[in-house]
Amino acid sequence: MASLFGHALVGVTLSNVLDTKNTRVLLVLAVISAILPDVDVVSFKLGYAYEHCLGHRGFTHSILFAVLWSLLASVLFGKKNKLLFFTVVLLSTLSHALLDAMTTGGLGVGFFIPFENTRYFFDWRPILVSPIGIKRFFSDWGLRVIISELIWIGLPCVVILIGNKIRRNN
Ligand SMILES: [Zn+2]
Repeated sequence: MASLFGHALVGVTLSNVLDTKNTRVLLVLAVISAILPDVDVVSFKLGYAYEHCLGHRGFTHSILFAVLWSLLASVLFGKKNKLLFFTVVLLSTLSHALLDAMTTGGLGVGFFIPFENTRYFFDWRPILVSPIGIKRFFSDWGLRVIISELIWIGLPCVVILIGNKIRRNN
């Protein structure tokens, strides 16, 4: 994974750009959705191998999971804005897998589970993979991850957020 901070920032950015009303519930949902796929780290504790379809970067990182979660979230919370909720939640959830596929380590992402269990990486992988677990994050490795994500996730998101603010104010 990229770190939770990196994923969350993408959720914030997507919500900010797509939701002109800045709905708080949608912002929270976007952040949760951008982080949610990593609930599958419990699979290690449950004894699933990394490469199993329910292992890390497996089903919860798939396109199908993103669609199902977005449908559920938009029905539960979307009220009169179901399409907007669906879109923001879908893109936030998918952003997680897309970022993971741009990281330098682990196995790839199971985008097409349950239809196909192949794990995919993009050819371009500039993001240093984040350690799993809090203890290992507070290390030299964690620091290098933060720097890598500031460049490849933080900077683009901040530019987009500022650009969006300027656009809205005009
Ligand atoms: Zn992940």
